[in-house]
Amino acid sequence: MQAIETLEIRGMCRDFGTTAALQNFSLDIRGGTFVTLLGPSGCGKSTALNCLAGLLELTDGEIILNGKPIQDTPPEKRGFGMVFQNYALFPHLNVISNVSYGLDNKPMPRSERDLRVRWALDLVHLDMDEFGRRFPGQLSGGQQQRLAIARTIVLEPSLLLLDEPLSNLDAKLRGEMRIEIKRLHKELALTTVYVTHDQSEAMSLSDVVVVMRKGQIEQVGTPQDIYNCPRSLYVADFMGYANRIPVTLVGPEGNEWLVETETGHRLHGISTFDGSADWKPGERLLACSKPEDMQVEAPGTANRLSGSVHLVEFVGQAYESVVRLDDNDNLQLLVQSQNTLTQESPVSFGIRPGRLLLFPYEAPSGKRSGQRLSAVSTAVSA
Ligand code: ATP
Repeated sequence: MQAIETLEIRGMCRDFGTTAALQNFSLDIRGGTFVTLLGPSGCGKSTALNCLAGLLELTDGEIILNGKPIQDTPPEKRGFGMVFQNYALFPHLNVISNVSYGLDNKPMPRSERDLRVRWALDLVHLDMDEFGRRFPGQLSGGQQQRLAIARTIVLEPSLLLLDEPLSNLDAKLRGEMRIEIKRLHKELALTTVYVTHDQSEAMSLSDVVVVMRKGQIEQVGTPQDIYNCPRSLYVADFMGYANRIPVTLVGPEGNEWLVETETGHRLHGISTFDGSADWKPGERLLACSKPEDMQVEAPGTANRLSGSVHLVEFVGQAYESVVRLDDNDNLQLLVQSQNTLTQESPVSFGIRPGRLLLFPYEAPSGKRSGQRLSAVSTAVSA
């Protein structure tokens, strides 16, 4: 199969009746990269993947593979491989037959076919002697997932398309399979487009993350770019910037911005928002931060706030508390500490200006994807 040097997607659109599922989607993919399409349910991720695979026709736009348009090429002639969320295994075929099925119409000696099946199963760490004669129903979820990947890579696709491949697995298996997918990508240097709504999956696997919103691309960048420098409140929300403090802009101060909370408390922040050059004093903004950047043990930090502890949750490496601000008890922030805190106790916490990101004000709208402290939060006893 022809290796991918460049895959250019130009103005790709797909409508379903009056629903514009994909609008003006343009992206350049270099050969060998791992690209993840990230976004909430319904934002058009699967539509984009199916258009790339050729399973859906484009309403408009072009897909150019190594300089040649392929949007009218049928799926079987594109040489791409797709792994579906539900695995789509043949239940009546055993493991070996599931993998060799795609090789049936390729002329090759039986010995070579057997070698390729063994190679593909070895790659996904499924032992052919132990599992080869089993049927999919006799495999665990993780083993079925490995089989689905083996069945695709045995055909040596030039592009691997993965549609939420880990969503049916439990948390531990998801973690293991994530490492397996990363290893496979490294070993095969296979250009990969991966769909997920899980930001941690996107961060750990990808060279490039494409954040999608309502059928359009909201931001493209490395995981570090997207995580540290979200260009919109939408991306920040998706990346877990769960704390939002309504503020008013006072003005620039060096490389930072000086802002004032509704109760007159002054804070320093920065902006990764593209339109911030036009901001004027008096502008209504939201100062956003991740709970892990609001630290109780942060002596000397320029930005300091104080409040009282409402709820505490253990989140693994730290404790995360809901804190009500002293001067505005309508405002609750998620704050982290190394030690547990006592309910209703006073607490002072700090945030570095470089981790307080400013965005244009938007009114709160229901549940946000970045919200962390869940319904399982436990109130600590006083
Ligand atoms: P999920 O994470 O839930 O799979 P997604 O981001 O992959 O979501 P898509 O499945 O691409 O989203 O759907 C994008 C939009 O297109 C949604 O509004 C969806 O309802 C609509 N859509 C998708 N497929 C069809 C279809 N066959 N007919 C009509 N509308 C569709």
